[in-house]
Amino acid sequence: MSDPVPYLDLPAQLRSIRAEVDLAIARTLDRCSFCLGPDTVQFEKDFAAYIGTKHALGFNSGTSALHIAMLLLNVGPGDEVITTPYTFVATSWAISYVGAKPVYVDIEDGTMNLDPKLVERAITPRTRAIMPVHLYGHPFDLDPLLAIAQKQGLPVVEDAAQAHGATYKGRLVGGFGDISCFSFYPGKNLGATGEGGGLLTNNPAFEKRARSLREHGSSVRYYHDEVGYNYRMEGIQGAVLGVKLKHLPRWIAERRRVAQRYHELLADTPLQLPREEAYAQSAWCLYVIRHPRRDALKARLDQSGIGCALHYPLPLHLQKCYAGLGHQPGDFPVTEKAARECLSLPIYPEMTEAQIQRVSAVIHEFFRA
Ligand SMILES: *Cc1c(COP(=O)(O)O)cnc(C)c1O
Repeated sequence: MSDPVPYLDLPAQLRSIRAEVDLAIARTLDRCSFCLGPDTVQFEKDFAAYIGTKHALGFNSGTSALHIAMLLLNVGPGDEVITTPYTFVATSWAISYVGAKPVYVDIEDGTMNLDPKLVERAITPRTRAIMPVHLYGHPFDLDPLLAIAQKQGLPVVEDAAQAHGATYKGRLVGGFGDISCFSFYPGKNLGATGEGGGLLTNNPAFEKRARSLREHGSSVRYYHDEVGYNYRMEGIQGAVLGVKLKHLPRWIAERRRVAQRYHELLADTPLQLPREEAYAQSAWCLYVIRHPRRDALKARLDQSGIGCALHYPLPLHLQKCYAGLGHQPGDFPVTEKAARECLSLPIYPEMTEAQIQRVSAVIHEFFRA
């Protein structure tokens, strides 16, 4: 049997930069700058410059950054935030944490991102914000969405947790909304050696308040202006992310290579392949194919030692934790169909041509049988 192909290969990436990472961690240890610290401050500057925003703040997770985004917009009990039911649950957590209600809108069949055509209809007098996700690393269609938001006077929060390095009409995502949030969870395109997140904005008032909320609601130590949180990024994560950010453009190019090869090799299969809209360059955080016989195909890949995953098997409106919202199966048919058909294939910068060909060969065998 051929070598297994892991779904993710974090060891391969770490090996390729191990000496730099060791050095950066050692420097942080020598300084004992464990919470935020100079390496995190430097990373914040570098990441803001990379994305093209005035400010970036390091958080201890993407979820924390999303939570703070809701607080910055003064979203609270009785308020509504329009978002997608087809995402990782943390997008909705942020809304729930502040006591507000996630208002779901169905997705587009192609990108599987929030359908901008459906957003306007979902706006009510209680709507306080719109929070779309650049799902799988493919940007959502920003222009129509920003136009609706502007017309209605609503802020937009970009959940860019999967989209480091993705561009919309040539510009990196994360700088379009009023606030954007990134995750640096190890499996993301830019991953820490632990938990991490980032909040980006061009708004100086948001930056100031987010900085305070991240650190116990204080800007002067032991004086607390409002109830705050301990959401600081760890010094070691800032150091490691600073090292990794330098490699990110190359890693995105490598992800694009893998996606392109899948595209060529799988074009003659019955699969629905992910594709880029004319306005977008995906960061290919995930490569998600679709097919009605997804479960059988997944079983075959599992048997053949090829890692694959489901993003996401159960849409948020049908999750137990959101039963209180009163949704039924059938409420968001495009989302529910995507959840039944989606299958994430292995994709990472270090993936070899032989590995890509092996994944393709097993898929071809499946459809020949
Ligand atoms: C990973 C992810 C998050 C949460 O980030 P964490 O750093 O794991 O807290 C939020 N939204 C989306 C779309 C994600 O993929």
